[in-house]
Amino acid sequence: MDNFDLVVIGGGAAGFFAAVSAKTKNSNLNILIIEKSNKLLSKVLVSGGGRCNLTHACYEPAKLVENYPRGSKELLGPFFQFQPADTIEWFDGHGVKTKVEKDGRVFPASDKSSTIANCLMDQATKLNIRVYENSHANSINYQSKKFEIHLSNNSVISANKVLIATGGISKNAHELIDNFGHTIIPPVPSLFTFNIQDPRIEGLLGISVPEVELKISFISTKNKSKEFISKGPLLITHWGISGPAVLKLSALAARYLHEENYKSTVSIDWIPQIPKTEVLNYLYEEKKIHPKKKAESTNINGWMPSRLWKRLIHATGIQADQTWGEISNTKLQKFSEQLKNGIFNISGKGIFKEEFVTCGGVKLSEVNFKTMESKIQPGLYFAGEILDIDGLTGGFNFQSAWTTAWIAAQSIGN
Ligand SMILES: Cc1cc2nc3c(=O)[nH]c(=O)nc-3n(C[C@H](O)[C@H](O)[C@H](O)COP(=O)(O)OP(=O)(O)OC[C@H]3O[C@@H](n4cnc5c(N)ncnc54)[C@H](O)[C@@H]3O)c2cc1C
Repeated sequence: MDNFDLVVIGGGAAGFFAAVSAKTKNSNLNILIIEKSNKLLSKVLVSGGGRCNLTHACYEPAKLVENYPRGSKELLGPFFQFQPADTIEWFDGHGVKTKVEKDGRVFPASDKSSTIANCLMDQATKLNIRVYENSHANSINYQSKKFEIHLSNNSVISANKVLIATGGISKNAHELIDNFGHTIIPPVPSLFTFNIQDPRIEGLLGISVPEVELKISFISTKNKSKEFISKGPLLITHWGISGPAVLKLSALAARYLHEENYKSTVSIDWIPQIPKTEVLNYLYEEKKIHPKKKAESTNINGWMPSRLWKRLIHATGIQADQTWGEISNTKLQKFSEQLKNGIFNISGKGIFKEEFVTCGGVKLSEVNFKTMESKIQPGLYFAGEILDIDGLTGGFNFQSAWTTAWIAAQSIGN
């Protein structure tokens, strides 16, 4: 039976980065990566619309962790050791120039995800890391101070240490981990768009608002209320709403929305930069100063795209030709409510094609985040999406994969 110092299960971002980093740390290590498919780093290749948004230009660990709905507390320490600046430096040191886009997302300067995948594969080859493709790890046992990894072709590999980097939780992940008594938090989707059919936004496809505030409130079974809030740009789509504010809210409320079968209500504040009382004052002012002007065509201070303004006016029951002077104060109050707290019914979730991530995975309290080693089984390590960690869109998911892989590698290399 072949024996390795380290067997990495999963030939994705975390698996490759961990193997390469461990071998860099300790060149004596005999390392094998096992990948079930015939395509290494397949998610890296499809990521970021084929460009691979490999990290985010956020260099303060305390700020960085705010982008992880699950895992923020645990990642703080690791980010002090390996954070986006280190990722950029690492790739730069291995011949990959990167660029930071206006919104902070970091891509390879080539705009090709293959640059990242090739870099990792080249490093693995250079460092003599063995890679078995088409090799599915079925189960792992630990006996006589060694791990035995059973592959689907009935062969067995022995290892001193094992790193599990098999990505999002699947039935197979249970089979690999259950033996060791680890808890797996059930997976549910994160980062999705909201399906909303509502006359206020119907047909406004492509219209975006630079800053909105979204809110979802839930009453739990224990009668406790929970509120999720996100701020940012919103995009109206064919099916409902999308954009950073929506994706962030979907991640924050992922579990709750799943429990509600993606049927809920979201409140939209279209102008969060102006307090509610001031909005009403603006409307009263308009009535006083421009009583003859049509409300529909007075998009105050260009608060939002005019077509959306008109829809919100009509939704309040104000007629197309009504002037400010003809609108009752009660209607103005209703309109301000529409602007600051428009309630929309979510009928389901849509797909965010650029990045698909699940929340759920190995319970974080069972892993030592100084080493990424299991607290239950010494010698067993975890990195990447297998952990119950997920980030917002923008390169944060890869960053947690690089960081957890790097931390594991330092410990294994020692
Ligand atoms: C379409 C898409 C676009 C994305 N874009 C971005 C982006 O731009 N930026 C970002 O930060 N994040 C992005 N993500 C998320 C990111 O890809 C993941 O967070 C990241 O790939 C996780 O890395 P990983 O190594 O943990 O898992 P994976 O990349 O999923 O790798 C796990 C590997 O393990 C293998 N495996 C599983 N089980 C076994 C087994 N039993 N035996 C052997 N091998 C096994 C799998 O085949 C796979 O190759 C995107 C995701 C998707 C789906």
